[in-house]
Amino acid sequence: MADDRVQEPRGIPSCSLCTEPAVLFQRDRHRHLCGTHLIGDIEERVAETITSQNLIVPGDCVAVGLSGGKDSTALLLLLHRILGARKDIRLVAVTIDEGIAGYRDETLGAAERLVARLGIEHHTIAFKELFGDSLDAILKDREDQACSICGVLRRKALITGAERAGATRLATGHNLDDEAQSVLMNVLRGDLFRLARNSSADSAGRFIPRIKPLMYIHEKEIATWLLLNGEWNDLPECPYACHALRLEVRGMLAGLEYEFPGMMLRLMENKKIVESLCSSRPGGEPIRHCTVCGDPCSGDLCQLCQLRRSLGK
Ligand code: SF4
Ligand code: ZN
Repeated sequence: MADDRVQEPRGIPSCSLCTEPAVLFQRDRHRHLCGTHLIGDIEERVAETITSQNLIVPGDCVAVGLSGGKDSTALLLLLHRILGARKDIRLVAVTIDEGIAGYRDETLGAAERLVARLGIEHHTIAFKELFGDSLDAILKDREDQACSICGVLRRKALITGAERAGATRLATGHNLDDEAQSVLMNVLRGDLFRLARNSSADSAGRFIPRIKPLMYIHEKEIATWLLLNGEWNDLPECPYACHALRLEVRGMLAGLEYEFPGMMLRLMENKKIVESLCSSRPGGEPIRHCTVCGDPCSGDLCQLCQLRRSLGK
């Protein structure tokens, strides 16, 4: 049987495109890149994703979900570089203050310094303002469900922030590793419909379409791009971060990608196939509206209203 594993070259190799020392080996393209070529390559690929998938069009106001962490920082910087000079596109940033003691203040500070430096309009929304309590208070005795509860609330808060900013697109910093993990997690959970809904659900009804311009960029490439641009910040991790299944899948996929480069991109291709099969299916699930708040959803109640009910809010 053919072995398609890629062997890492020995020693410090030169860039495949020039004679400078390489800073990164792109295993799925089997080539080395120096700092200059890596920066150019990442910016070109993000611009290509935006254009080829019509993620952003003239007249758009793009709200970037900015946590202050590395992916959202890279996203805002990249969009500012690619689109900053365009008069027909507006960039704004939306930051969510969940209310997590000892963690959020530092990342909020990083987000504020970044938008001030770039001169970008910034909206911050606190869970306390929207839902009446901080995440710390909401999670009392429910810490084991932290990320699933926080995820539903964050999603609503981001959409609210984007609406307040008058945005026509909501951009998030999900990278290729995140996206490939989500595809595999949906398969493992047996939730193929969620896989198909993932990228389009928010585009329906009155939600602002959600876009992920970094969806084809590896996490490692983003981290290297930040380091090369002097934008790397060492910030604390969220104290609630657990995501048990995601952590397992993350480790497994990283190992598979190392041994068999291109695996993550192939998972994304499979997601597209499932999406197109579902969208061409006659009599697909119609979009319904939550009977409490009116948001688009697949049942009688949206996830937020289900959560509010279970929390007794
Ligand atoms: Fe919320 Fe979990 Fe992210 Fe912390 S790690 S901010 S709890 S989703
Ligand atoms: Zn609802």
